[in-house]
Amino acid sequence: MTHDPSIHSRRVLVDGAFVDATVCVRDGRIDRIEPGSSRGSLDLGDAVLMPGLVDTHVHVNEPGRTHWEGFRTATRAAAAGGITSLVDMPLNCIPVTTSAAALQQKLDAAEGQLHVDCGFWGGVVPGNADALGPLAEAGVLGAKAFLVHSGIDDFPDVGRADLIAGMRALAAAGLPMLVHAELAGAEEPTEGLSPRSYRRYLASRPRHWEDRAVELVVQGVEETGCAAHIVHLSSASSLPILAAARARGLPITAETCPHYLCLHADEVPDGATEFKCAPPIRDAANRDALWQGLADGIIDGVVSDHSPCTPELKQLDTGDFGEAWGGIASLQLGLRSIWTEASERGFGLPELVRWMCERPAVLAGLGDRKGRLAPGFDADLVAWFPEDSFVVQPESLHHRHKVSPWIGRRLRGRVVGTWLRGHRIADEEGPCGAPLGQPLLGRCHE
Ligand SMILES: [Zn+2]
Repeated sequence: MTHDPSIHSRRVLVDGAFVDATVCVRDGRIDRIEPGSSRGSLDLGDAVLMPGLVDTHVHVNEPGRTHWEGFRTATRAAAAGGITSLVDMPLNCIPVTTSAAALQQKLDAAEGQLHVDCGFWGGVVPGNADALGPLAEAGVLGAKAFLVHSGIDDFPDVGRADLIAGMRALAAAGLPMLVHAELAGAEEPTEGLSPRSYRRYLASRPRHWEDRAVELVVQGVEETGCAAHIVHLSSASSLPILAAARARGLPITAETCPHYLCLHADEVPDGATEFKCAPPIRDAANRDALWQGLADGIIDGVVSDHSPCTPELKQLDTGDFGEAWGGIASLQLGLRSIWTEASERGFGLPELVRWMCERPAVLAGLGDRKGRLAPGFDADLVAWFPEDSFVVQPESLHHRHKVSPWIGRRLRGRVVGTWLRGHRIADEEGPCGAPLGQPLLGRCHE
């Protein structure tokens, strides 16, 4: 395959419509999209050809916790799942990404390991507002804060004052503030429930924790003018708060994740800590309301929140939900899990492209380069058959650890090709991704 391929399919998804067309690539970008097939083009037949996914919520954990995941394994899994850009979270690595020096260590660690393009979120922790300007100059795409314990002692949560200081610094840099929106408060009663009980874990992080936190973030946006983004929204009762803020013109967005949209609390067995994440997977009615939030555009996008760890830290042997690491491994399966549920609910691929390609690209400031099939955009493509289905087998996952609530489930969709800036990836070829927010250093076109 040359680096400037022409790729034909009878189902190219362009601006919300399927067309029989050829995507012509030049210097890694889409040069033009021509009707029909052209001589010498790669023919994909009836495979759907659409933009590669942009997953803006991934915990890669390198450097420092590479035994949890790592750039090579995470980006390989991403490519196999049709993702062509991801953005790494700032907290599970050592050092945490709360200074420009720490970002440089992460860039050094990623060198030569990226199968897809990879951007970086910085971190907002108590007292580091002055580090955010330099972090922005060093290339982070925004920065994230926690309003509740993050699970990582090196990455403490912020109170109101530090949240506002961080938002002011980010607004000055023109970058968004991402917020893990839970504020600890009263828990629901759990007497008599064992540590293995999922109901007990769910009761320990009720919806009102999220709703109060979202209200605080809305106040911060009002006070500072900083664009804010709620990561992994789980509580559907936050939707009216977000809708009201947006109706007032406030720049606040939200994402949710496959596990909140496809799974529900009653199907989580006691002791099945592979389902543990924070905020938790809630009841089926809440899940339906999240889909409505997506349909209404109150939730902008869907990203994985891939947050793996070692099997030991998942406490699979004891099944103790209190002790287990909170995080779900799902990076490779985002496209197909969401498509499985979305297609059941009557949504189509144009909506999926909006939720998983266009909107996340805009959040990360990549909306002029990634997430769309249009001339001038990076030739980041995925070809797949949405009608095919398969059962998730652990050996098919490229994640470092094969622990995931999706194992054993039947999902729709079979990915047959992924291209990064015109270069076919997800096969055995060497990594050719580039760090986003930096001068283009990828190896695709050396
Ligand atoms: Zn996360």
